[in-house]
Amino acid sequence: MMYKGYRFYFVGGSPFCKIGGEMKTSKELTKWYQSKEFQKEYIYDGNDLGSTIIDDKTMFKLWSPVATKVELNLYESGNEDARKLGSFLLEKGEKGVFSYLHKENLKNTYYTYTVTTSEGEKEVGDIYAKACGVNGQKSMVVDLADTNPSNWEEDQFSYDANKQPIIYELHIKDFSYDLASGISEEKRGKFVAFTEDTGKNTGVEYLKNLGVTHVHILPMYDFGSIDEAGSEEQFNWGYDPMNYNVPEGSYSTNPFDGTVRIRECKEMVQALHRAGIGVIMDVVYNHTYHTDTHFQHTVPYYYYRTKADGSFSDGSACGNETASDHEMFRNYMIQSVMYWAKEYHLDGFRFDLMGLHDTETMNQIRAELNTLENGNEILVYGEPWYADEPAMQKGCIPSITKNVAHLEKGIAIFSDATRDSIKGSVFYEEEVGYVNGDPTLAEEVKKAVLAQGRPGQIISYVSAHDNFTLYDKLVMSLNKEWDFTTKDEAMIQINKLCAGIIFTSGGAAFFQAGEEFARTKLGEGDSYKSSPLLNMLDWKRSETYTDLVEYYKNLIDFKKQSETLMDKNCDRIEKIEFIEQVDKNIVSFVIKDDIHKFVVYNPYSEEVQVQVPEGKWNLISDGNLFMEQGREIVIEKTYLANSSSAIILEKI
Ligand code: CA
Repeated sequence: MMYKGYRFYFVGGSPFCKIGGEMKTSKELTKWYQSKEFQKEYIYDGNDLGSTIIDDKTMFKLWSPVATKVELNLYESGNEDARKLGSFLLEKGEKGVFSYLHKENLKNTYYTYTVTTSEGEKEVGDIYAKACGVNGQKSMVVDLADTNPSNWEEDQFSYDANKQPIIYELHIKDFSYDLASGISEEKRGKFVAFTEDTGKNTGVEYLKNLGVTHVHILPMYDFGSIDEAGSEEQFNWGYDPMNYNVPEGSYSTNPFDGTVRIRECKEMVQALHRAGIGVIMDVVYNHTYHTDTHFQHTVPYYYYRTKADGSFSDGSACGNETASDHEMFRNYMIQSVMYWAKEYHLDGFRFDLMGLHDTETMNQIRAELNTLENGNEILVYGEPWYADEPAMQKGCIPSITKNVAHLEKGIAIFSDATRDSIKGSVFYEEEVGYVNGDPTLAEEVKKAVLAQGRPGQIISYVSAHDNFTLYDKLVMSLNKEWDFTTKDEAMIQINKLCAGIIFTSGGAAFFQAGEEFARTKLGEGDSYKSSPLLNMLDWKRSETYTDLVEYYKNLIDFKKQSETLMDKNCDRIEKIEFIEQVDKNIVSFVIKDDIHKFVVYNPYSEEVQVQVPEGKWNLISDGNLFMEQGREIVIEKTYLANSSSAIILEKI
């Protein structure tokens, strides 16, 4: 997520509260939370907070060093007006943990806690809940074994940890909202859309044909901006977390039954794994929907950072920022990531506004994942920036670009330098990059080719959900009159050059779903809550722009075959040698794979004669098409490069 137009302001939660009967400001509370006494007496490192079924009994545990009383409320359903079945007092134990053992197996029973703190009595959901009712207000006791789809124990995915992934970024609803997706009505816009074989080149079959190794799914944990009981026309990206350990209800076929969303989310993962595709989840631990949350009401001012004046710090520009540098939230993040990795078999995590998390937390997450079997294959990467300076404790290092050396090697960052040097700033539509008007950025593009000198830790990309789609950006930066719907061959050619650069460069290749069929949002740069019709993948376009799709497919294949470009473990790319051309704006280089490749980028709208290194070369791609196998075009000494093209030759 990027810090732009949208903000949520905190409601409730005055900066004053009482503890032990005396008035304490949020400032005093924060100070107490950071005191030695608190660290010693109240940090709980158990992994059993929440509700757990133990031998046909149910244990409830809640952590709140500041609560004076905690009651458990059981409900008949998860709905707002559900009938209460009874209330039970939890007992306060050591480390600020309240607990209650119910003598029955309460699986599928909905519950809340009434927590009394200096802020008064608040009825809240369980922040450790693994299941919940509609709109995430009430938690649910769940027996996870009941939620497994058939053959779940056989579900598996493996990806060589030494190789770069090729990541496709998509949103659950975008993927199948379009009728032309061929997905059946009841599955459209849902997790289970991924389980359907449409009999044509759409859905998971399409992803498989495209050749991506992983999909990166925009938030699919429970978020707050969609009324799960409301209409299907609602849309949101989902960067407004409610329940971190529960899938989003609006993506399920029944948000009222807490088990359905869990099972269907697993079915999606299973279907992608069957297609040989890994699943990465976009995680937004850096802020919550607002501060009138289960977190704030359970332990006031603990889970959020506050400023010197006691008000909430707002490094996310969404009204708050969470506190990864506070031990219990750090533990929470680690446990949450581990839970998704183990229970949902996820293959990667993309951290939104990772700059709001300290490097220590990120490194601990990496280390914990590595303890799992093949855990080193699980991808960890994030946005190395924040909207505003976070209020981290002294000595903590924010996970931003300039601190990348403090992050473990198995943690990668998005390269905004690569993104913007190729096609111009994401913020200003008229600003251009190397491919669309400023060929003098050649030196910056060379850095992009070398993955900014840090191949194992760089995500190379030109477009993501934030800001203009690549195609829209190209149209807006190059044309005075914006026409996003008429097929424009010149624009497609420049789109090809952008992709050509990404897939002949080091780093992990990443692209926004539909970039390969000139996805348009008609110039909308911030569609986080625009209509699903604007946001959806327009599957007809995948046919109209089939030559562009084919080109991406071939590029993906090309990258996968290059041992140099796929090498994630190297500290720098030694096997790329730049070749100087007469015109310094032409970038050209040899990739010293077992079979050498020669790559040329021509950023001009005219053809350019380029020098080819010694020997005979075979044309692989003229920047427009990939040659059919066996169709040899032998090149020596010079080559006339097409306009706006990434040329690829292979040594004979
Ligand atoms: Ca929700």
